[in-house]
Amino acid sequence: MQIAIDGPSAAGKSTLAKKLAEKLNIEYLDTGAMYRTLALYFYEENFTNFDDEEELKVFLSKIKIDVRNNKFYLFDRDVSQDIREEEIGLLASKISSYQIIRSFLVEKQQEIAKGKDIVMDGRDVGTVILKNADFKFYLTADVNKRAQRRYKDLLVKDPNADFNKTLEALKKRDHDDMTREHSPLTKATDAIEIDTSHLTIDETIDEFLKVIRGTCNV
Ligand code: C5P
Repeated sequence: MQIAIDGPSAAGKSTLAKKLAEKLNIEYLDTGAMYRTLALYFYEENFTNFDDEEELKVFLSKIKIDVRNNKFYLFDRDVSQDIREEEIGLLASKISSYQIIRSFLVEKQQEIAKGKDIVMDGRDVGTVILKNADFKFYLTADVNKRAQRRYKDLLVKDPNADFNKTLEALKKRDHDDMTREHSPLTKATDAIEIDTSHLTIDETIDEFLKVIRGTCNV
């Protein structure tokens, strides 16, 4: 069984996708973390020449990215924590607008999913990576609600975090993800939309399971 979960930042996709995969006892892949891993590589290597396609291709041909047990590796170094930095998230969003980069990662993501029961979350899972997924969900939530969730997470790391800045950054991320030329974030025509604004994690999981159990015996 293959399940695609897409939606804007801070809608709760990763937490929910991971939990759903556990419930169904199948694999989980966070595709955004792969963009982040690539972003970390560009950041550490000071690569900024994204508009030079040839140079970008050469650079990509040298990289070694691996995913094992939900951990992300850059040249065999576990970078699962480092990629969560805000700066790396912003760079991930920037580089995800380049078609060469998208194709590079989509190929890897399809390879990982091949023949597997898996839940994948991201922005283009239902529309590009797993076009034939058995179930497609589009998770959304009011932008203020999403900003509150993100702000709460940020406060743990930084007591000086600013709510308004968090809200503005989220709005910009939404705009960039939804208006980019290549694979913009959109709801697949056959995706079921779930608004998590007023749902707890468990309630949202129940919504997923209702849909899945309505079709399959799990
Ligand atoms: O999901 P997360 O916020 O970790 O993803 C980081 C960035 O990677 C997103 O802002 C988005 O621009 C990009 N992304 C993407 N396609 C995916 C997953 C993430 O373009 N499938």
